[in-house]
Amino acid sequence: MSDDCIFCKIAAGTIPSGQVYSDDQYYAFRDIHPLAPTHVLVIPRKHLRAVTDAREDDKDLLGGMLLKANEIAAQEGLAENGFRLVINCGPWGGQVVGHLHLHILGGRKLGDELG
Ligand code: 5GP
Ligand code: ZN
Repeated sequence: MSDDCIFCKIAAGTIPSGQVYSDDQYYAFRDIHPLAPTHVLVIPRKHLRAVTDAREDDKDLLGGMLLKANEIAAQEGLAENGFRLVINCGPWGGQVVGHLHLHILGGRKLGDELG
């Protein structure tokens, strides 16, 4: 938990969000500015600033986050047609919020663009 992190506050429930999933390791919620009919963010409760902050000890946490995204995508009805998972990293990667998060985008045919 980082006191000045908006996503830590969302996971703690201090800032309201459209919760999609919650357990002791992960929290998922609807993006406030959705780029697709379904746009969910999955975060680890552990505050990592970016995917590049992950260390060997975080291997299970990262793997679990992908499996959780699969589950959530299926629950959201995205499994059949497919969906996109995105992790932005750093300023040139388009990362705005400094708490690791995985975007789940789906519900429409996504273009070839990556950014
Ligand atoms: P990034 O560009 O860092 O990969 O993605 C950050 C995402 O967080 C953006 O898609 C943005 O819309 C979303 N976001 C930022 N602040 C909030 C918030 O307070 N609540 C919710 N639900 N989403 C947010
Ligand atoms: Zn945080």
